[in-house]
Amino acid sequence: MNPVIEKIRSCEEKLSLFMERLEVIYKKMDGKYKEAANYYGFFCGGCEENCCFTRFYHHTFVEYLYIIKGFNTLGQGNQAEIREKALLVWRQTAELEKSGLPVRLLCPLNYEGLCALYSYRPMICRLHGIPHELIIPGREKILSPGCKEFMSRCGEKEYVIFDRTSFYTEMASLEKEFKAAFVISERIKLTVARMLAS
Ligand code: SF4
Repeated sequence: MNPVIEKIRSCEEKLSLFMERLEVIYKKMDGKYKEAANYYGFFCGGCEENCCFTRFYHHTFVEYLYIIKGFNTLGQGNQAEIREKALLVWRQTAELEKSGLPVRLLCPLNYEGLCALYSYRPMICRLHGIPHELIIPGREKILSPGCKEFMSRCGEKEYVIFDRTSFYTEMASLEKEFKAAFVISERIKLTVARMLAS
């Protein structure tokens, strides 16, 4: 295991306080997402454009540790299977990149359309799909559309405000505190496959 992750995991008490704070942020996100989804009548039920095929990168240690926390709740057999899938995705990604081909591989946590660690999934997986906005001081508001499935099913409906700004801000502050608390200077940019393959 990555020595930084090992170091963090050795401070159990401190880590669990951060995990609790992350859960509070996730709860707020899920609540707001649900409100917007209910307004549109948009519910993910698996689709051809499955977003779990998208190569999402995650940038926070705090979310990385939360995925590991979830992973550790699984039985040994499931863990071994997921790790094997993750390794395969990691290797295939490297091969595709080397050949200059697009990478579209299913996340190793996806089982028949469902996330094996749904309650532990990272922020981007929680927020994906619904049209949203982002407010960066000194710049024009950034408006982004929903996913392809959303646009075909609910694209006609009038936009309801779904502002991601506070979630990004809170996540960035938590990560900053987390890195200070565990004396981490490096940055990360990892897929779920990469997190679980090591
Ligand atoms: S973590 Fe879960 S929701 Fe996110 S891409 Fe993987 S399977 Fe999909």
